[in-house]
Amino acid sequence: MYERKPMIAGNWKMNLSLKEAAELIKTIRNGIGGVEGVDVLVAPPFTHLGRVREAIGDSGIFMAGQNMHWDVSGAYTGEISGRMLQEATCTHVILGHSERRILFGETSEQVDLKVKAATFLGLIPIVCVGETLEQREADQTFEVIRTQLDLSLNNFKADELMRPSTILAYEPVWAIGTGRTATPAQAQEVHRFIRGWIEENFNTGSAAQVRVLYGGSVKPENIADLMSQPDIDGALVGGASLKGDSFVQIIRYKEGQSG
Ligand code: PEP
Repeated sequence: MYERKPMIAGNWKMNLSLKEAAELIKTIRNGIGGVEGVDVLVAPPFTHLGRVREAIGDSGIFMAGQNMHWDVSGAYTGEISGRMLQEATCTHVILGHSERRILFGETSEQVDLKVKAATFLGLIPIVCVGETLEQREADQTFEVIRTQLDLSLNNFKADELMRPSTILAYEPVWAIGTGRTATPAQAQEVHRFIRGWIEENFNTGSAAQVRVLYGGSVKPENIADLMSQPDIDGALVGGASLKGDSFVQIIRYKEGQSG
């Protein structure tokens, strides 16, 4: 069976001063010494990327943008391009986060354009999908996730190619920032569905290799149970990634890594 390397990713959203960001990286660096077999990533605000890169130094922590435009340059006031993220030394970019979809009206069609542009540039997209509480209660979870995947990854489908480095994140909207986490079984069920979708639309190789992260009120207390599920390959962490100690504890979720 193919072993997917777990990833713990911190989405800082619109938080932290430059100084706080540099201090947070220092705490993470100090805390993850000796940890092996886990990829660590942070997604700082755009203005913090340079300073955070300096603080990351040679620690191997990956850095992502929180969003990007699909065009390379142009008259798009307030936007940032994938090439700019690359110049700022980002290797990844979060796309289609529910806050972008809900608060800023981003559509799956736009996410698809962004995924295509990011992939063309060699930036690894972390593509988020997830249902609202209303949709879950109306038994529409799988239908919603399938539609989001179909539309947000439409260009992959057209090319019949999904790069194994692509990362997906299942983030139930009702669990984000609410303190309410999906149970490991609830999350696993959707992660399994997502992997099935990859297999159906691409091939077993991609399905085996693409990492699917869970996001939604992940904290030190629930990470190990979530990670024990076969199709959960890591976590996209919001609130708990802003505190060095809790983020480090999440990264060190495996037994034997607490020394
Ligand atoms: C997120 O916004 O991606 C997220 C999962 O946030 P939180 O961990 O705070 O629920």
